[in-house]
Amino acid sequence: MLSGQIPILVLKEGTARESGKDAQRNNIEAAKAIADTIKTTLGPKGMDKMLVDSLGDITISNDGATIMKQMDVDHPTAKMIVEIAKGQDQEVGDGTTSAVVIAGELLKQAEVLLEQSVHPTVIANGYKLASTKATEVLDKIALKNIDDVSLKNVAKTAMTGKNVGGVTDFLADIAVKAVKSIVEERDGKKVVDVDNILVQKKFGGGITDTELIEGVVIDKEKVHPRMPSEVTGAKIALIDSGLEIKKTEIDAKIQITDPSKIQAFLDQEEETLKTMADKIKKAGANVVLSQKGVDDLAQHFLAKEGIYAVRRVKKSDMEKIAKATGARIITNLDDLSQKDLGFANKVEERKIGDDRLTFIMGCKFPKSVSIMIRGGTQHTIDEVERALHDALKVVGVAIEDGAIVVGGGAIEAEIALELRKLAPTVGGREQLAIESFANALEVIPRTLAENAGMDSIDTLLALRVAHQSGKKNFGVDALDGATGDMLAKNVLEPTRVKSHAIESATEVATMILRIDDVISSKKSKSEGGPQGGGPEGMGGMGGMGGMGGMPPM
Ligand code: ADP
Ligand code: MG
Repeated sequence: MLSGQIPILVLKEGTARESGKDAQRNNIEAAKAIADTIKTTLGPKGMDKMLVDSLGDITISNDGATIMKQMDVDHPTAKMIVEIAKGQDQEVGDGTTSAVVIAGELLKQAEVLLEQSVHPTVIANGYKLASTKATEVLDKIALKNIDDVSLKNVAKTAMTGKNVGGVTDFLADIAVKAVKSIVEERDGKKVVDVDNILVQKKFGGGITDTELIEGVVIDKEKVHPRMPSEVTGAKIALIDSGLEIKKTEIDAKIQITDPSKIQAFLDQEEETLKTMADKIKKAGANVVLSQKGVDDLAQHFLAKEGIYAVRRVKKSDMEKIAKATGARIITNLDDLSQKDLGFANKVEERKIGDDRLTFIMGCKFPKSVSIMIRGGTQHTIDEVERALHDALKVVGVAIEDGAIVVGGGAIEAEIALELRKLAPTVGGREQLAIESFANALEVIPRTLAENAGMDSIDTLLALRVAHQSGKKNFGVDALDGATGDMLAKNVLEPTRVKSHAIESATEVATMILRIDDVISSKKSKSEGGPQGGGPEGMGGMGGMGGMGGMPPM
C-alpha cells in the first residue's frame, strides 16, 4: 500500500546508520577488541602497556584503569566498556581489568548463541539470572572474619603485578595502618573515605623511606627564616585569602604630587599589614596558613610575633587541615576569633630530600594521616602511588563490607560450578545463556594461567575437577605456575571487587546485545541533527492522527 509513495526522510542527510546483525556484530567486535587488548595485563604475571599520548608523554602500567584512561577510544560501544573500568575504579579501586575482560567474554559467548538463533533478549535474561546467582554465591562463601593479617593480604593481592615487587609487604603494612586509623562509624556502619588520607610524593630516597605520618603534611615551608621551626601547642588559623594589600581589579593610578605624601602612603600600607599580623596575634594563633600570598612586610611582622606562617596552601589541603585540626577557614581577618582556630600538638618544618615541608602532628581529630611516598625516580614514585591507591581502596572496602573472597580465579571457578548446577533447573533457552555465563567467568582463571605461561586447558580442567569435589579455594597460583589452594597462598580480595565487576560487566554486555541499530549523526554540521528529521516525521504522524481523530468529531 505504501509502494509508489516517496520515502519520507526521517534522518538528516549524512547520518550513518547500521542496523540488525551488522550493528550487533560490529558492537560486539569493538567490545571484544578492547577486552583482548588488556587481557595480557591480568594477574601477577601480566605484562605492561606503554602508552604514548598525543604530546609524546609516556605512561607504563598494567593497571586497567590507568590504561583505559589513556586509550583514545572512538567506537561508541568500546567507550561503554571503558566506562566500566572507570566505574569499577571509583567504586572499589581494583578489578578493572577483570571487569572489562569478563564483559568482553560475555559478548564473545553471546555471539555463539546468536549464531544458533537464540534471541538477544533471551540471552540478556539468562545473563541477568546468572549475575544474580553469582552475587548470591559470593555472599554465601565470603569469609567474614577479617583480621589485620587478612587485610594485609588483601592489600598485597591488589598490589601484585604492579612494579613494586619486593616492597609489597612494606607498603601493605602502611596501607592497613593508614586505613584503620580513618575508619568512622556512621549509623552503626563502618565507613572509610580514603580521600582522608593525604598522599604526598617526594623525589629522593628509596621506596622503603616511604612513611606513614600521623598528621597532615603539606608540601610548603614557613615563609620567613626567622619564624620558629617548631611550634608546640599549635593554635592554627586558616585563611583562604591573602595576607597582602589587595591589588585593584582594574588599573588604578594614584597621583601623588607632594613628595611627603609618598611616605604617608607607604606608612599606610605598612600599617595595614601590621594590623593583619596583630589581628592574628590577638585571636591567639601561633600558626597561620594562607591559601594566597603573604606580603614580605606581613612576614616580617608575623616573624616578630613568633608566628609560623605558610602561604599558597592548596585548597584541598586547607580543607583536610580544617577537618584534622577543627579549624574554621575564614576569609576576612576581622572575623577571626579564638573559636575559629584549630589545634595540633605540634607544627614543625622538616627537611625531606631537598625540600622543606610543614608537618602538622597530633591533630585534634587523630583520624587524619598522611603517607609520604619516596622513590629514586619519578616513574617509581608514580607506580607506588597507583599501587597504594589500589591497596588503600581495597582495604577500605574490605573493612566496610567485612567480606572477602579467595582470588586467583578460585572464586570465578566456584561461581561457574554453581551456575552449571542452576542452568538445568531454569530450562529453556535461558539455560544456554546461563551456561555461557559460566564459561565466560572462567576467562579469569584461564587468562591468569595463560599469562603465567601455563597450559590453560589443563588448568581449567584441573580447576573444574577440584571444585566439583568441594575444593572451593582451588585456583591458579600464577607466581608458582601451578594450581593450588589460594587461601593457603593468601590471595584474598574484597567480595565487592568481584560482585561489582560481574554486575557491571553483565549490565554493559546485555545493553550492547540489545542494540540493533546504531544511528550516528554527522559530526561536522552539529545543529539540527536527528531533531532535524523530527518535524517531518511528526508532520506525517500528525496528519495520520488528524485523520484518525476525525470520526469522533
Ligand atoms: P585487575 O585490574 O582486574 O585487578 P590485576 O592485573 O590486578 O587485574 O589481576 C587481578 C587478578 O589476579 C585477580 O583475579 C586476582 O585474584 C589475581 N591474583 C592476584 N595475585 C595473585 C597471585 N599471587 N596468584 C594468582 N592470582 C593472583
Ligand atoms: Mg588488581
